[in-house]
Amino acid sequence: MIGAMAAATFRFYAELNGLLPRQWRQRDILHSFRAPASVKDRIEAHGVPHTDVELIQVNGEPVDFGYGVRDGDRVSVYPFMAVVENPRPLRPPYPRGRFVLDQHLGRLAAYLRLLGLDCVHRTDFPDEEVAQVSVDEHRVLLSRDKRLLMRRAVVHGAFVRATDPMEQVPEVLHRFGSPETIAPFSRCMTCNGVLRSADREQVEDRLLPDTRAYYREFRECPDCRRVFWEGSHGLRRLRAALPPRITSARADGGERLPSRLAPAPCPYLTGTFAFSSSNQFWIRLMRVISAAGRRLVLVSRKRWPSRSRS
Ligand SMILES: [Zn+2]
Repeated sequence: MIGAMAAATFRFYAELNGLLPRQWRQRDILHSFRAPASVKDRIEAHGVPHTDVELIQVNGEPVDFGYGVRDGDRVSVYPFMAVVENPRPLRPPYPRGRFVLDQHLGRLAAYLRLLGLDCVHRTDFPDEEVAQVSVDEHRVLLSRDKRLLMRRAVVHGAFVRATDPMEQVPEVLHRFGSPETIAPFSRCMTCNGVLRSADREQVEDRLLPDTRAYYREFRECPDCRRVFWEGSHGLRRLRAALPPRITSARADGGERLPSRLAPAPCPYLTGTFAFSSSNQFWIRLMRVISAAGRRLVLVSRKRWPSRSRS
């Protein structure tokens, strides 16, 4: 049986407008469809993946994705950043610090790993498999492919808006960052392995002569066998690059964060390991970490208490 034609008014708010075709941005959209139809399908018909929607209201009342849109409904759709608290969550809480990235986001995966986040990524990664890993392993799917995010099975995900990997990092942390998952330099950038301490004797065969002479402490990746060593000036630089209010917030509680939000010791100041001798890389990396820190404090204050309950 073919359903009757119906029409509803849709309005997308805040940054969801960036996902809409230009003619639908920042305005009411009269949308015709064949009833019955779920609000999730009708939202995606506008080009907005369900993963990027945080709150849906129909005629002022919150609904979930399964709601059947009726003739004459007024549907308001909000992204994460515009929602303080959703009385009717659209999905279970986000998996913390666990991601899977589509094959085009390799640099982003490397930078997130550098911050200690658990990121599955391969350069030969079919969409089908990316989606499956996100479901099977409870990982947030990050992609710049809206079709991939619209797959039915995908529960947690986000469309990555920025194209520069250094801008993508704060964008991801702003929505999914949680202070306790950030542990810079604890994970292998190349293969996602968790680094472990190693004695000089264990790694000697893999060191350059200079490194052998100047460094005593090492970490190695148990999976790909790469060796990392502590940069003697890395910690100083990292401290200098951090915004003062973050270091003092951690040190003296000046930010008045709830105590469970302030990890001790400050995760940004521990485990400083040099991954590269290129100054340019270091400077950019410090900027990312400092930006990440700023965002995380902001996110904690606004979002953390209400989301960690369940
Ligand atoms: Zn590795």
